[in-house]
Amino acid sequence: MDLVTRAEWRARSPRGHLSPLPSARGTKLHYVGSFVSPDLAKSCSRCLDTVQGIQAYHQGTNRWTDIAYNLLVCPHGRVFEGRGARILSAANGPGLNQGHYAICALLGDRGLIQPTAAMLRGIHDAFAYLRERGAGREVRGHRDGYSTTCPGPVLYRWLQAGMPLADDTTPIPRTPSPPRWPGRYLQYRHGQPMQRGQDVTAWQRRLAQLRYTIAADGIYGATSAATTRVLQRAKGLSVDGVVGPKTWAAAW
Ligand SMILES: [Zn+2]
Ligand SMILES: [Zn+2]
Repeated sequence: MDLVTRAEWRARSPRGHLSPLPSARGTKLHYVGSFVSPDLAKSCSRCLDTVQGIQAYHQGTNRWTDIAYNLLVCPHGRVFEGRGARILSAANGPGLNQGHYAICALLGDRGLIQPTAAMLRGIHDAFAYLRERGAGREVRGHRDGYSTTCPGPVLYRWLQAGMPLADDTTPIPRTPSPPRWPGRYLQYRHGQPMQRGQDVTAWQRRLAQLRYTIAADGIYGATSAATTRVLQRAKGLSVDGVVGPKTWAAAW
């Protein structure tokens, strides 16, 4: 595991006494929420700035003793030491911190919303690190048992799917004759009914084959549209999250 210690990210000292928590039922996953700059993915020095900013916010505005999380994971797969192991977190909501430690992924609900493969591996590392230090096997999202969208739709589905990691050694399947565009523009509009069907499932399956983190549930929602935008950006297409003939063809 690529651990960045508090000294390495130049953490400020806790504002007071941190409560020990020698063991817990498990660990909950969080995200930053709000806007996270896509520039974060460019250089890990920006990750360090971001972690420092979260600590300043938690200690300043929130008046907490320290950064709320036990560990934080950046898009480069590095694991930043927050409160560290065997310490009570401040992240899971009132009365819920005794049961779970807390890991935060540096992802937002806008801007940087898609986890990298390195980040998913880093999250695995972080869960394992805490399990070796008092955490039970239970893996949850913040939203389990608490009213929040945290850790966001992409990571939450990934948790529910059993945290699969792309096996980088398996080649992406090549299709001799790519399937034809189904004839319906797949798109998601906030507040309107979501499109469902075989065409959606086929599209999601292809995205998953291309190692995007997406569940093939046959519903074209915000996550599908966001993933489509990432693919469109990678392929140099116009980025609108709509699957028309060009975007469809670009995936095969
Ligand atoms: Zn959370
Ligand atoms: Zn980083």
